Amino acid sequence: MRWHGPGSYPVEIIDRRHLLFGGRSVGLLRTAIVIGGGMAGLFAANVLADHCEQVTVLERDEAWSPLSRPTDHTANTNRLPQAAGRSGVPQSRHVHVLLLRGVQVLRKRFPGLEEALLARGAPPLNWLKETAALAGGSWLPRFDSNLLGFSVSRALLEDQVRERLRGRGNVQFRTGHRVVGLSSSRTRASVNGRRESKSGANEVRVTGAVCTVEDETVTLQADLVVDASGRSSRLPSWLEELGYAVPQESTVNGDVGYATRWYRIPENWQADWKMVLLATRFPDIKGGAVVQPVEGDRWVVTLVGYAGDHPPTDEAGFEDFARRLIGPQVWEAISAAEPITGIGGYRRTENRWRHYEKLKRWPQGVIALGDSVCAFNPVYAQGMTVSALSAELLDDYLRNYFRRSGNSRKEGLQNGPPALPGLAFQKKLAKMLQTPWQLATSDDFRWAGRKAGDASIADRFMHRYIEHMLDRIHRPEVCLTFFNVAHLVSPPASLFRPRIALPILRDMVKNRFLQPGAKATKGQEPEATSL
Ligand SMILES: Cc1cc2nc3c(=O)[nH]c(=O)nc-3n(C[C@H](O)[C@H](O)[C@H](O)COP(=O)(O)OP(=O)(O)OC[C@H]3O[C@@H](n4cnc5c(N)ncnc54)[C@H](O)[C@@H]3O)c2cc1C
Repeated sequence: MRWHGPGSYPVEIIDRRHLLFGGRSVGLLRTAIVIGGGMAGLFAANVLADHCEQVTVLERDEAWSPLSRPTDHTANTNRLPQAAGRSGVPQSRHVHVLLLRGVQVLRKRFPGLEEALLARGAPPLNWLKETAALAGGSWLPRFDSNLLGFSVSRALLEDQVRERLRGRGNVQFRTGHRVVGLSSSRTRASVNGRRESKSGANEVRVTGAVCTVEDETVTLQADLVVDASGRSSRLPSWLEELGYAVPQESTVNGDVGYATRWYRIPENWQADWKMVLLATRFPDIKGGAVVQPVEGDRWVVTLVGYAGDHPPTDEAGFEDFARRLIGPQVWEAISAAEPITGIGGYRRTENRWRHYEKLKRWPQGVIALGDSVCAFNPVYAQGMTVSALSAELLDDYLRNYFRRSGNSRKEGLQNGPPALPGLAFQKKLAKMLQTPWQLATSDDFRWAGRKAGDASIADRFMHRYIEHMLDRIHRPEVCLTFFNVAHLVSPPASLFRPRIALPILRDMVKNRFLQPGAKATKGQEPEATSL
């Protein structure tokens, strides 16, 4: 693994193009299908609505679930219901933090959405001032900054984005539609042995999606099919059925387990934090936690354990795990609060990247994004933001394509779908994914039990550099820089700005044979400073 510079993170360029060309596309597709109504599918559908006459989101779940508010409250906490959530996205019962880069994209794409979320009770969050955060064993300083976001449950966020899409007029949702394959204009036999042409003109054209709806099989036609069906996407086998190769996969598995319970925030609750983030530290701090405030005066409390040291899902075990965490805040909070759900676990957390971009051949008329391509260990909270950025990339890709091909809106409608070379999109996407992948896997690589010798020199340098950086995290400037990179707002290259890097490099040379310095110990309180 190599550490890439700012060139691998072309988000600012995308922003400028959006400003230049506005929401309207220069070309037009007639129809697009999005497989999966999760966050990646919703973000993609929003962008496609600028480029297509009609967008249809196909979702296997029978219905959108009620927002995650458990209803039948009983006195026996062991028998409380799980937080409500639709079965297609069981992860939505766990903490879902939207990184600041995701908030920025949301503000740009859905004006007024943030206000709507706040009006429904999602707490605003002044990140550095109101979060008690422990990273790599060091407490982050607390100070006022312009890093302002909000905290919302995944269910409410999804619900509100879906509402906005409904309001667009050309996006429709079909629930109870489980996609089981792709329809195409050519058979496997006619494809085998053909060479790839640059435009993809000799490739199979995907013409739609085959779904099961109750007991029936239905084929829906589209000019473009977008796979956003998440971690368990069947796209590799659908491609194989069309005569294409199965992509290679990279996985880095830190063997992380989650356990989550929702609580009602006590009425007179007083603390110097709104949110708590306790991150782990390789190799000695295996347990972490998040207390996320969400709408309805509730906390979503997720406990996290690395390397198989998973938090238990029974009440006594859950509470004991919380009590033993390095910071006291989580235990203090949950021992004062009323639980409103049972405890749910989650184990499918490995980083997994399907390298579609490395395939030599790829059919026309299909692309993939979201967890379907690259799913991250959720502790880094990158999935929704990366999905939003992937949709930005899709917008950019379609705009460029129409401009270069000269395919006008009129032609698009009259002559049918242009030959969209989807492989070009997968390559662009892969470039963008490099940064979040490196951020998520750098430490997980060590937790995964790989030997130091397996890591590249650049990675080993980076581990050391970050450890020393965390020793200086009490300095507001270092903290801001670190925070902006972790929130995908700034590229990793900003960690090496001379003012930040020189003292760290000096420390590294001085302490060549030593571990980085003092670390916070159990119970130590966050330090208060001002910028
Ligand atoms: C425990 C956990 C915690 C997480 N915490 C965070 C966090 O804090 N912050 C963050 O940004 N991200 C977080 N994530 C990641 C986040 O949930 C996803 O990355 C993000 O929602 C994008 O996922 P997606 O839309 O690609 O897939 P999903 O959200 O999984 O959605 C896929 C959708 O496709 C549907 N579907 C699947 N197969 C079919 C089919 N054959 N036909 C029709 N429909 C189908 C599913 O029902 C589902 O609705 C977390 C993930 C997990 C597992």
